[in-house]
Amino acid sequence: MRIDISELRKAKGRTEEFLGSVPDFSLDISGQKTTFRDLTVDCEAMNTGEGIYVQGKITGEVDLICSLCLKNFSLNLETQFAENFYREGEDLPGEMEESVRTYCGDEIDMSGTISEALQLVLPMKPVCRPECRGLCPQCGCDRNTQQCSCKKEEIDPRLAVLGQLIKDQNKKSK
Ligand SMILES: [Zn+2]
Ligand SMILES: [Zn+2]
Repeated sequence: MRIDISELRKAKGRTEEFLGSVPDFSLDISGQKTTFRDLTVDCEAMNTGEGIYVQGKITGEVDLICSLCLKNFSLNLETQFAENFYREGEDLPGEMEESVRTYCGDEIDMSGTISEALQLVLPMKPVCRPECRGLCPQCGCDRNTQQCSCKKEEIDPRLAVLGQLIKDQNKKSK
C-alpha cells in the first residue's frame, strides 16, 4: 500500500487521512508462509517539518494453524502502528539515524510498516479456541472430536523405563 503525500508535503503541520485495503498479504514467518486476508489500513499522516509522521491501525484476518490440534483457523486482528518517514537524501534529525524509514518522491510505501506491525501482533503459540483439547499424544486423534481409549497406564513394560526417564527429564527441566 502506498500513500500519496504530495499535498501533505507542501506545508508543515498539515494532516491527511488515508484509508487503504490490502486484499491479500503474506509473510514468511520463521520459514512458514502466513496469509492475511481483507486487511484495512486506516491512518493519518502529518507533516512534522522534518518528516512525515504516520499513525493508524490495521484490521483484518489471518490464517493460522492451531499449535494444539493442528487445524487451520482464522483469527481477527487489530493492531496499531506509528512511524516517522523521512525523505530519501534529506538530512535526518541527528539522534534518530538507526532504523528510520525513508520515502522517495511524493509517495510513502507502507508495506514495511504493515509487515512489522502484523508480525508483532501474531500469537507465538496460536490456539484455535481457549478450550481446544489438542491431539492425543499417543494415537494422534483429535481429542476435540474423538474420544480415544488411550490411557496413560497402557504402556508396554519394555517402554515403561523409557517413560520414567522422560518423566524424570521433564521434572528436571521444570
Ligand atoms: Zn485447536
Ligand atoms: Zn489416543
